[in-house]
Amino acid sequence: MPGRSRVLGLASELGAIVGAENVLTEPGALEAFRKDMADFEATPAVVTRPSTEDQVGRILEVATRRRVPVVARGAGTSLTGAVVLDGAIILDMQRFNRILRIDPVNWYVQVQAGVVLDDLNEALRKEGFFFPPDPASSFLCTVGGAIAESSGGMRCVRYGTMRDWVLALRVVLANGRTVTLGEPLAKNRVGYDLVHLMIGSEGTLGVVTEAHLKILPVPSVPFVRMLVTFDDWPSAGRAIEELRRRQVMANLMEFMDRETVLAVNAAFHTNFEDAEATLLVDLDEPLVGDAEAIFRAHGARRFSRAVDEAEAERFYSVRSHAYLAVKELASGVQIEDVTVPIDRLAEYLALVKEVATRHGLRMPTLGHAGDGNVHPTILFDRTDSASRAAATAASQDLCRYAIRVGGTITGEHGVGVQKAALMREQMQAHGAEEALRLMKGIKQLFDPKSILNPGKYVEAA
Ligand SMILES: Cc1cc2nc3c(=O)[nH]c(=O)nc-3n(C[C@H](O)[C@H](O)[C@H](O)COP(=O)(O)OP(=O)(O)OC[C@H]3O[C@@H](n4cnc5c(N)ncnc54)[C@H](O)[C@@H]3O)c2cc1C
Repeated sequence: MPGRSRVLGLASELGAIVGAENVLTEPGALEAFRKDMADFEATPAVVTRPSTEDQVGRILEVATRRRVPVVARGAGTSLTGAVVLDGAIILDMQRFNRILRIDPVNWYVQVQAGVVLDDLNEALRKEGFFFPPDPASSFLCTVGGAIAESSGGMRCVRYGTMRDWVLALRVVLANGRTVTLGEPLAKNRVGYDLVHLMIGSEGTLGVVTEAHLKILPVPSVPFVRMLVTFDDWPSAGRAIEELRRRQVMANLMEFMDRETVLAVNAAFHTNFEDAEATLLVDLDEPLVGDAEAIFRAHGARRFSRAVDEAEAERFYSVRSHAYLAVKELASGVQIEDVTVPIDRLAEYLALVKEVATRHGLRMPTLGHAGDGNVHPTILFDRTDSASRAAATAASQDLCRYAIRVGGTITGEHGVGVQKAALMREQMQAHGAEEALRLMKGIKQLFDPKSILNPGKYVEAA
């Protein structure tokens, strides 16, 4: 945390840049910026709400001169502590809220960083387009946050993650200068690929103000959305492996266990069957017969097709809100993000159950099974140090399994403060130690005074 002298007069200096009404210092006002959505907590020094690149640049100049850390913030839905920091200037990016251009020929959208993904998709739909990556938080999270986290989501089983959909960026660097990275073109071979360096950089290399994102026409092939239930978790995993082997490509392949469905039913007054394992599946209509046969061969108990668009939307919405329902089940949650090779999915699902039993913990589990990326949500009692220690041990067991089998400790949520040590372990185990050294050098090059989200991620690993 910066010393008092560094923040003395800071608010009025920032007020001269963004207007006093866009600088928050009162404890009550700061409260909304103290937590992320996995309850990582820290108290910022001040919150600013810039609305232009010039303002962001001038704020970063002030921060550099005073050596006060800066954290860019979208919607604060991060799950790893990436968006909270004691003593920081929070750059609230929500006033960067304009969709600047939808290009119907070049198939891109030019959008500011604070636009919420669902709002973006609503605007695109009116023009017959959509933006595929859809973190389950897309009703809240912003373009800038999703880029900085290289977010995945539910449709990623078909379309990939944010990493696959960004063409160009406008970024304000730690020295206050603004730079354009990439070109909004189908192809561009000029220079090192700094666009992709910025994607997944967790606010540690620069502040994204604007992006050109690829878009696609809304698919015209009719699809079927259904819930498929199983009597055990590994059977659902084996069915997914077999779908892959038989080259049946799903558009959604989401997992929810019994405890998640029960939490959802209680929170949202729904009445979904509380089977041991449920898959939410989207398939192009011609593939449904083959897929159902594979599910059946792996013990699927019941298929419930959405009868109309409204029900299909309800299935989707329930899954996307499931974490919020599960989070209410205990005073502490640690949501895991291990991703395993898909041919290890069934084994991993069995391991999650075993780890929960071994540590005496409840772990409602949900997530993107089609990507090998399910999220055991480890519940613990925040007031009980033994319970907290058990949660940490369980998380480490899952992450170390992933490292052993060639998976990753985080598929999409990122590292933040939560997983820096495990990131180092993974990189060492997978022969990437030198890559980590290069990454630390890149951080130093972009941010020599370490003001951008310091002490986290690569710097902390
Ligand atoms: C209910 C729920 C469901 C979720 N589902 C998914 C999911 O399916 N897939 C997934 O990948 N994640 C998921 N997440 C995690 C989270 O929502 C995503 O990481 C999301 O993209 C973060 O966006 P945000 O706007 O909230 O960013 P924030 O939480 O505000 O910030 C996240 C990080 O990005 C940085 N950042 C934010 N804006 C900028 C900017 N303009 N420039 C530079 N850095 C910036 C911050 O400094 C921080 O390091 C979920 C979270 C919740 C609560």
